[in-house]
Amino acid sequence: MSNRDVIARDLNAVWHPCTQMKDHEWLPLVPIKRGEGIWLHDFDGNRYLDAISSWWVNLFGHANPRINAALKDQIDNLEHVILAGFSHEPVVELSERLVEITPAPLSRCFYTDNGSSAVEVALKMSYHYWKNCGNPNKTKFITLTQSYHGETLGTLGVGDVALYKETYKPLLMEAVTVPSPDCFHRDPDMSWEQHSRRMFAHMEAALEAHAHETAAVIVEPLLQCATGMRMYDPVYLELLREACDRHGVHLIADEIATGFGRTGTLFACEQAGIVPDFLLLSKGLTAGYLPLAVVLTSDHVYEAFYDDFATLRAFMHSHSYTGNPIACRAALATLDIFRDDDVIARNRALSAHMRRAVAHLEDHPHVGEIRQHGMVLAMEMVRDKSAQDPFPWQERRGIRVYQHALTREALLRPLGNVVYFMPPYVITEEQIDHLATVAAEGIDIATRD
Ligand code: PMP
Repeated sequence: MSNRDVIARDLNAVWHPCTQMKDHEWLPLVPIKRGEGIWLHDFDGNRYLDAISSWWVNLFGHANPRINAALKDQIDNLEHVILAGFSHEPVVELSERLVEITPAPLSRCFYTDNGSSAVEVALKMSYHYWKNCGNPNKTKFITLTQSYHGETLGTLGVGDVALYKETYKPLLMEAVTVPSPDCFHRDPDMSWEQHSRRMFAHMEAALEAHAHETAAVIVEPLLQCATGMRMYDPVYLELLREACDRHGVHLIADEIATGFGRTGTLFACEQAGIVPDFLLLSKGLTAGYLPLAVVLTSDHVYEAFYDDFATLRAFMHSHSYTGNPIACRAALATLDIFRDDDVIARNRALSAHMRRAVAHLEDHPHVGEIRQHGMVLAMEMVRDKSAQDPFPWQERRGIRVYQHALTREALLRPLGNVVYFMPPYVITEEQIDHLATVAAEGIDIATRD
């Protein structure tokens, strides 16, 4: 079997996610035969360094021996069982350990099988909590511009990515949308903290106007990934936590992308010293092995649903694969690695190295900004550096970086004009140096003419 064979069969039968399929008339698919550590190997003997963790999910490399061993053991014992009325050891142990590694008062775990459905659960739970507490008018949600929370109809409603949302607008609920604290747009003489504080005034105003009809504010803590790795300062979350409490509104922290060490701490919220009412985790939860997501909340929320059946206060939400045992075992093996290896400390050294490796690009005439939170580093390509003027999206310059990187053994997949590294934590300093070289070459090629 060669790349060509697989591509031909693929294009006959598969409809790929987030893709204009016509692009594949000129942009070849890359069929992967196997993965090992940081590397993805295709059918023709080429390899690619997975610098984006296969859509931000992989933490400890492909075919990780420790996770593989746990899964093989689990498959021989229990592959799946209904989680309504029944239980199993992996889901119990995982819930105990998630409660252990997250701050109080988070104490209850509700599972779904992907990030979007976890967001849906949090939105429903928040609204339903207020309803159960005699407050059925809290039907709205507040979100930030440039936010992304998934692509189901409910999550598109609280997201703000025009490319994904615009077409479906007539089908969506309407959220109150507040300008993002994105520090790329700060005045040149302002620090991230000053800018984030200043932008909070918009949130305060929205809460003042809408708190009475609002169930929750939903944010991606510190890092809005899908809209180009947009970053802000932890102070914004501190202010938000305080304001949500003062206004009687829940805070939903969507850490589906930021969780499990991506921003430098196990969870991004830690950097602000805050605890959300709902903490959403997925992606890294299983180190990129299996779809699993969890909504953590407090006993306080849980108790608002706890009553006799006939009161109809229960949270009647289910997915067939809720708390799948194999996925839970992958998550447990992932938590073992965090427990046994000093992952966060090692990452600190790796993120410092990433910054050093691209430092020379600060002066590149078409690099408007290099920004970083922990293990995520982003470089913004701009047409005019002094005006921070973007290249028009129609020019699709990021694809040129992607195409170049493939010829240099790297998988880089820019978001529009933003080239970023979000690698598995098993990456080495030499591999980071290689990525930096490839990114610099790619940016040169993409910004030419
Ligand atoms: N929230 C955030 C912050 C995400 O980055 C994503 C996925 N990129 C989601 C939600 C949706 O997760 P999923 O793709 O598993 O539905």
